[in-house]
Amino acid sequence: MIRGRFAPTPSGLMHIGNIWAALLAWLQVRSANGQFVLRMEDIDKPRCRSELAEQALTDLRWLGLDWDEGPDIGGPFAPYTQSERDEWYTDALDRLEQNGMLYPCFCSRAELLAVASAPHGLSEEGPSYAGTCRCLTPEEQQQRMAAKKPSLRFRIDDNRSAVSFHDGAAGTQAFAADAGGDFVVRRADGIISYQLAVVADDAAMGITDVLRGYDLLDSTPRQLLLYEALALPAPRFAHVPLLMGEDGRRLAKRHGDTSIAGLRAAGLSPERIIGWLAQLAGQTDTLESVSAAELVSGFRLERVPTVPIVIDENAMRQL
Ligand code: GLU
Repeated sequence: MIRGRFAPTPSGLMHIGNIWAALLAWLQVRSANGQFVLRMEDIDKPRCRSELAEQALTDLRWLGLDWDEGPDIGGPFAPYTQSERDEWYTDALDRLEQNGMLYPCFCSRAELLAVASAPHGLSEEGPSYAGTCRCLTPEEQQQRMAAKKPSLRFRIDDNRSAVSFHDGAAGTQAFAADAGGDFVVRRADGIISYQLAVVADDAAMGITDVLRGYDLLDSTPRQLLLYEALALPAPRFAHVPLLMGEDGRRLAKRHGDTSIAGLRAAGLSPERIIGWLAQLAGQTDTLESVSAAELVSGFRLERVPTVPIVIDENAMRQL
């Protein structure tokens, strides 16, 4: 039985780009008679709001995307809200710690920027880490601890050269294991990193198939290193292309109100929205109103384009 999930971050209104990934993840699971899990990724609490999480549930239901386990339903892995799942993450951190795979890092953002080592410089996670605090002695660590709370980094094995995996949408992938350097698993403010939380959760929830946006493709090698370090089975991955505006940038507010709440208020039906996404996803040949449920039996992941999808903004406005 396959188990997939949708894991939105309630830091903004759910928009077309989120629903694009949610719909495809949902169809992948439903077309294989699998189970679908909904998880609220509000681990970065200061950025998230509970009313946005509520709104996300309303939006998903309105669009006909249901779930078998998750908020408002429960299930064996409740709670499905990251801010309430601290003990799962502490447990994972403890196991990494016991295996000597973590070390404290005292670098400030400015220091990190100054010594950023990677050719690609800044990633979403911050600058690529040059390993400054990797070899501090226990005495040096103690000394610095008195002045500053450290973050915790995962130590990438020096002997590990590459992380490769087959991506169900993007094809075979190979990343240098140390592409971004040793990465943060707990921030200095105590907040668990996305990478650790998502691995602990997907593993605990028995997720077999992760389908999500291409923007997370380069997080996958880090997550695979964590699965390995924690001796947990990794799921299969599929990273689908992002929806882009005509300016070649990711679909966002600048391209108009693409929030589901906004489109609903403007009088659009769920079938119109799903129908438009289905056509973009190569599931229907023409633009037609269709419900998510009607797409299930004919769903083919291989029909989803593999290159970024530039949307016709005018057509979107006239939906
Ligand atoms: N919470 C992440 C986001 O909204 C998605 C995490 C994932 O799918 O792995 O971008």
